[in-house]
Amino acid sequence: MPELPEVETTCRGLAKVLIGKKITEIKTLRSGLRIPFPEDLSKYMNGTKVISVSRRAKYICINLSNGYVLIIHLGMSGRIIIGKKEYVLNLHDHFIINLSNSQKIILNDPRRFGLVTILNTDEMESSKFFRNIGQEPLSDDLTPELLCSKLKHKKIAIKLALLDQKIISGIGNIYACEALFRAGISPKRKSNSISYKRASKLVNSIKLVLTEAIKAGGSSIKDFVHPDGELGYFATKWRVYGREGEPCLCNHQKNVLIKRIIQSGRSTFFCPACQR
Ligand SMILES: [Zn+2]
Repeated sequence: MPELPEVETTCRGLAKVLIGKKITEIKTLRSGLRIPFPEDLSKYMNGTKVISVSRRAKYICINLSNGYVLIIHLGMSGRIIIGKKEYVLNLHDHFIINLSNSQKIILNDPRRFGLVTILNTDEMESSKFFRNIGQEPLSDDLTPELLCSKLKHKKIAIKLALLDQKIISGIGNIYACEALFRAGISPKRKSNSISYKRASKLVNSIKLVLTEAIKAGGSSIKDFVHPDGELGYFATKWRVYGREGEPCLCNHQKNVLIKRIIQSGRSTFFCPACQR
């Protein structure tokens, strides 16, 4: 599933291709994905120029010259492909933006949990998609003080609090596991027992794992684009995620093994020795 770093690198890749370009045509190849495509999408998009591309949580926001913003969510399996004029449609290509320079932006989504919609920029934050979304993890506004204040009345395990999009937006399962490992915090620890000191470490770790993943995406893929035009996907070496039964990287002598538990139906990977 595309997580925040993949969405961020996708946005950066899209920005390079889209900013300043004119949209000539929109094509929808089915009636919708998770929700129907807006019927009047062409009316809002054709002839406009792309001003900027930004990210909010895991939504790609393509800001248009007419004051509207095209919102794309990649869902479980969505990916963006940048195609040339001669691009041949593939299975699961559902939505296409044609640009005045003959390039195409294609949304391919086999499982169809993705989403495409258009909003007035002024109404974006109050829309149903964004009004309940929590703090952006990479924003300076995510501080240990803020995290402590959001956790102090929560009895749920800290891992589950990190996945709660109303607390912090866009931290998925992998990054929750990795951030807790780096902060030395047990995923089972109750949220309201997180001290200021631990919250500090956790905030730093969250920013670190996300920033590293974004950097890995940027350095391993030229200009964030794969040779086949696909944006934003990259392999990262995780420290705990997917490493059940393997030795913990931080303890070479005692041969402590990474454990996997299930929390609210999702796998959690952690080191029982160095996460408390
Ligand atoms: Zn360890």
